[in-house]
Amino acid sequence: MNETQTRQPVDFLKQYYGYDRFRPMQEAVVRTLLDGRDSLVLMPTGGGKSVCFQIPALMKPGVCIVVSPLIALMKDQVEALLLNGIPAAFLNSTQGSREQREIEQDCLAGRLKLLYVSPEKMLSESFFVFLKTLQISLFAVDEAHCISSWGHDFRPEYTQLNMLKTHFADVPVVALTATADKLTRQDIVNQLNLDDPAVFVASFNRPNLSLKVLPGLKRIQQIERFLALQPDNSGIIYCQSRKSTESLAAKLQEKGYRAGFYHAGMSAESRAQTQEEFVRDDIRIICATIAFGMGIDKSNVRWVIHYNMPKNLESFYQEIGRAGRDGSAADTVLFYSFADVASWKEMLAENAPANLGLQLAKLERIQQYAEAHSCRRQILLSYFSEELTEPCGNCDVCQSPRVMFDGTVLAQKALSAIVRLKEQVPVNTLIDVLRGSRNQTVIQNNYHLIKTYGAGSDLKFDEWRSYVQQLINIGVIEIAYNDHYALRRGILADAVLFQDRKIQLIKPEDAAQLKA
Ligand code: ADP
Ligand code: ZN
Repeated sequence: MNETQTRQPVDFLKQYYGYDRFRPMQEAVVRTLLDGRDSLVLMPTGGGKSVCFQIPALMKPGVCIVVSPLIALMKDQVEALLLNGIPAAFLNSTQGSREQREIEQDCLAGRLKLLYVSPEKMLSESFFVFLKTLQISLFAVDEAHCISSWGHDFRPEYTQLNMLKTHFADVPVVALTATADKLTRQDIVNQLNLDDPAVFVASFNRPNLSLKVLPGLKRIQQIERFLALQPDNSGIIYCQSRKSTESLAAKLQEKGYRAGFYHAGMSAESRAQTQEEFVRDDIRIICATIAFGMGIDKSNVRWVIHYNMPKNLESFYQEIGRAGRDGSAADTVLFYSFADVASWKEMLAENAPANLGLQLAKLERIQQYAEAHSCRRQILLSYFSEELTEPCGNCDVCQSPRVMFDGTVLAQKALSAIVRLKEQVPVNTLIDVLRGSRNQTVIQNNYHLIKTYGAGSDLKFDEWRSYVQQLINIGVIEIAYNDHYALRRGILADAVLFQDRKIQLIKPEDAAQLKA
C-alpha cells in the first residue's frame, strides 16, 4: 500500500491547514466527494465550506475547478492557499492573455490542484475546449445561490452552469452556499442538474452571537456607548453608502478611535491596505459597505453593527456572521429606522428588478424581524427553515421582555391629527404638531390652528417617534412612499377612530441604554 492511500482526510487537514479535527459535516462532505457523488453544501458564512472541496482536491488526481462570482476575492483566496502550500491559481478578466496562458500551461502540466475561475470565463468557448483537455477532479460551484432567481444575488450567467453535468458527466459537482431557504436549495439542484446529490445542511445557529436591535436615532452616541463596553475589541460597522462609511470613520477618528473605511469605490491597493490593517489590529473599527468581509480571515471580530438595515435577512445574517468566528461571544447591533425601509423601497422601485415582488417580500421579513417582540433568533432560524424550540436568551427581546400598555388614546391623537392635516405631512411635522411646536413649517401652514395641536405635548419627540413607528408597523398609520412620505390612515385607522379598537404599544426602549 502506498502512503497516499492510507492517509486520511484529517491528515490533510492537519498538514495543510494546521487544524486537528473537522467541524461537523466537513468530513462527511469530503468523503462523499471522494466517492464521486454530487453534493449540495449549505453552511453559514464562516462555517468552513472551503476545506470541503479543497481537501478532496488535494487527495484526488487532477485539478479542481472552482467557479466563483467574487473576482475581487479570488486573488486573496489563492494567496491563502499558496501560503498553506497548496498549488492554486485563478483565471479571470483582470489578467492579461500572457498570464492566462502561463496558468493554463501549469494546469496542463498537472502543477495545480485548484483553479478558480469566474462564471464568464467558465462559459467561454475557448476555455471549454481547454477544460476538455484536462483531468478534472471536481467542480466546486461557490456561492451557488447565485444560480437562483429566488436567491438574493441572482447572476444570470450562473444558470448556464448546467453545462457541467452535460459535458463532464463523470466529474462530481459540489455546490456550496450560505443561503439555505428551501426554494433556493431546490433550484440549485435542478438548475445544476445534480445527479442524486447528497445534501448537507449545517445548523445556521450561531449561539455565540448576541442579537440586538436598536432604534436608529442618535446612532453615533449609541455607538460610542457601545464601544466603551468593548474597549479593546475590533469590529465592523456596515453602512449603506460609500459616502457614509467615510464620514462615519472620520467622525470616529475625531473622537479618537482607530477607525478606517472600506468600499468598492476605493482602489484595489487602498482596499487591500485597509483590510490588512484591520486583520493586524492596527485599525480597530472598519466602517464598510457590504463589499467588505467576504473572504476576510479574521476570527476575532468581536462585534458587528449595522448602521443601516440590510435589504434582507440573508445579507444580514451573512454580515453578522463575520463576528465571532472563533466561537467566543460576539455582539451584534442592528439600527433600525423606517427611513431605511423607505430608501430600500425607493431603490427597488427605481431599479425595477424582475423579481421585485420577491425582493419586497424579503424586505418585509427583515422589517418584521427588526420590529419583533419575540425571540429574534427563533425568527431568524425559522427564516432559514430551522427550528429553535426555546427562546435563545441571548437577544435583546429575551433579555428584556416587552411590556405592553394600552396605547389606544395615543393612536387616536396621532390619527386625528393626520386627518386634520389632510394626510399631507411627514412624521416630523406630525410630531411637531402633536407636541405643539412653534417652528416655521407649523406656523407658516397654520397647523397651530388645528384642533389636535399640542394634544401630545406631554411626550418627548423621540417617544412620539417610537409610537408613530409602532403604529405604522401594525397598520394604524401608513407612509406614502411615493408622496413625500406623507402619513395617511392605515388599514386599522377607522377601527381605532370609530370602533374603539384597542391598540397595544410598547414603551420606547431607552435608546441610550446599550447593555453589554
Ligand atoms: P466559509 O467559506 O464557509 O465562509 P471558510 O471556508 O472561509 O468559511 O472558513 C472559515 C474559517 O474557519 C477559516 O478561517 C477556516 O480556516 C476556518 N476553519 C475551517 N475548517 C476548520 C476546522 N476544521 N477547524 C478549525 N477552523 C476551521
Ligand atoms: Zn432570543
